[in-house]
Amino acid sequence: MSGEKIKDSEEQVKKGNTEKEKYIRPTWDEYFMEVSRTIAKRATCDRGRSGCVIAKNKQLLVTGYVGSPIGMPHCDDVGHLMKKVIHDDDSISQHCVRTVHAEQNAICQAAKLGVPIEGATLYCKMTPCRVCAMLIINSGIKRVVCEKKYHKAEETEKMFLKAGTELDYFDESIEKYENM
Ligand SMILES: [Zn+2]
Ligand SMILES: [Zn+2]
Repeated sequence: MSGEKIKDSEEQVKKGNTEKEKYIRPTWDEYFMEVSRTIAKRATCDRGRSGCVIAKNKQLLVTGYVGSPIGMPHCDDVGHLMKKVIHDDDSISQHCVRTVHAEQNAICQAAKLGVPIEGATLYCKMTPCRVCAMLIINSGIKRVVCEKKYHKAEETEKMFLKAGTELDYFDESIEKYENM
């Protein structure tokens, strides 16, 4: 009799397991992007609170977020430091230049700690700017994964294409900043 009961409860467990929705693990790209979203929360410039993760062989190597150089005031405390950039087509855009970008800070952390990042993948919020793109190329980073596309992404996309740096987007929608 007790044997019957055990059998019943075993079947119950089996049934329960198959009826439960199967847990879907995040992909490695999703995993590192999720980490970079958390890191972004430490950012100190609200024009683009972004974070960055550099990973290789499924392992996280270094991280960075957008913020002023160590010891210097933050945008969140003293406001942005805006500079105008005049483009070839005479259009003018405005950028906050107070901060070291998330990608740059991750590369700095690698230099500081002596972590080789050649052949690594970089995860970030949106298409890196021109300066970040140049640093990424020269660091030997081979793949860049962005959550979104920056509205002025063309220059970086062209450089990555020429340098052979793979560029992937999570979401093809375009991120626009106010007061450009
Ligand atoms: Zn700022
Ligand atoms: Zn940048």
